[in-house]
Amino acid sequence: MTHGRCLCGTVRYEVDGPFLNMLHCHCSMCRKHHGTPFATWTAASLAGFRYTAGESAVVRYDSSPAFHRSFCSLCGSVAPEGIEAMGMVICPAGNLEEDPGIAPQLHMFVGSKAPWYTITDDLPQYPEYPPQFGMSATPRPAVETSGDSAQGSCLCGQVAYEISGPPLRMYNCHCSRCRLGRSAAHASNVFYKADGFRWVRGSELVQEYKLPEAQFFGTAFCRRCGSELPRVSIERGVAVVPAGSLDTNPGIEPAAHIFAASKAAWDRITDSLPQFDEMPPRN
Ligand SMILES: [Zn+2]
Ligand SMILES: [Zn+2]
Ligand SMILES: [Zn+2]
Repeated sequence: MTHGRCLCGTVRYEVDGPFLNMLHCHCSMCRKHHGTPFATWTAASLAGFRYTAGESAVVRYDSSPAFHRSFCSLCGSVAPEGIEAMGMVICPAGNLEEDPGIAPQLHMFVGSKAPWYTITDDLPQYPEYPPQFGMSATPRPAVETSGDSAQGSCLCGQVAYEISGPPLRMYNCHCSRCRLGRSAAHASNVFYKADGFRWVRGSELVQEYKLPEAQFFGTAFCRRCGSELPRVSIERGVAVVPAGSLDTNPGIEPAAHIFAASKAAWDRITDSLPQFDEMPPRN
């Protein structure tokens, strides 16, 4: 039995039975919904899946005629999707509490991967769905950007933001809070000075969740589609931007893996970036 939960702990579920496959998806919808360079999904039989708490807090957003995406309405964590026609449930691996006993097998939608993210492992890569899935992609128009500021938006497009000024730094964070909050292997956050940040539209749809026991940790997401969004930390004077939500290339790449000692059992770091067990030392 494998258990899963959202960041705030309201939504909980269990999966009885083996996971059948696991993959990394780099499509623009996964990147926006999770705010990360890719989402990692693992599939199991739908018959073995059940919510044990908080199902009523799960909100569904119809991202295309064929697909929908679900999330916890309190904290924004991505929730599993049951696919009745295939008898399967697909779970965001970042929300699983135990080792699911399976490792990622491939990368898909690398044709739309983030320009600032480099794949360094040796898994097979497919531009869209792997041929064995027998599925075709729903084309999505590129989001228009203008000027030279950094710009981003949510999946439904109702929330957009822009940031002036250069990025300060970017990290891949593997801590358990980031894994639960982003529902992914790790967060990839770009930090900007807070005073350069502004919402262009939809700020009334931005919901924040602050982890009660944490000094700073929180998330922000679109109430309508659940996409992870920037969170401005006035206390620290920074805007923490989930890089997957950006529509422009931030012109910076991750400088390190932080909290690498807490990474998921199924997550393999194969690049040559510095790794820190927790935070990097201040200099
Ligand atoms: Zn939650
Ligand atoms: Zn995807
Ligand atoms: Zn949205």
